[in-house]
Amino acid sequence: MPEADADALERLRLTASTCTLCPLAKGRTQVVFGVGSAAADLLFVGEGPGREEDLAGEPFVGRSGKLLDRLMWEEVGLTRAECYIANVVKCRPPQNRDPAPKEIEACRPYLAEQIRLIDPRVIITLGNFATKLLLETTKGIRELRGQVFERGRANVVPTYHPAYVLRAGGEAMAEMRADLIRAKRLMTAGPP
Ligand code: URA
Repeated sequence: MPEADADALERLRLTASTCTLCPLAKGRTQVVFGVGSAAADLLFVGEGPGREEDLAGEPFVGRSGKLLDRLMWEEVGLTRAECYIANVVKCRPPQNRDPAPKEIEACRPYLAEQIRLIDPRVIITLGNFATKLLLETTKGIRELRGQVFERGRANVVPTYHPAYVLRAGGEAMAEMRADLIRAKRLMTAGPP
């Protein structure tokens, strides 16, 4: 990525850090913008920060994050510093409720700009919220996972949210591993 884009990503992070575009701003400790390399070929998009992420200022630092780190290392061979991890909403919804449509809409331009600046080869959407937003669909993750979707310069690979895999285990874990392997193959294959 050109250095100018890394600078632009940092400027966007600073802008987002004082965002008051939706009511989630009131309850947050801090904005959880994203983490990783601005030049990443692989971008993960989750749902929104939980309590631990809100306190740490970093996405996926709790139990789901530990699983995500493990699977990305075992199946893709990357650490979180080598890819990029962002969320659909950047501020914690109270009591870990689902993000509301208006909150998702208010936050959408930040994610769109992150994608434009990072320009990843592959985007892995984690769970229903990220998948529905990026694929502009109402279909659920169970129906969509296992497939690849071309969106602009990136391939989108939908998979389960790691919190679901922690609960469901077994088959869901194997399916998520298969999705990550699919993403790794696409990363080496180049743009669609
Ligand atoms: N779940 C998410 O979707 N994102 C996080 O950052 C943490 C948990």
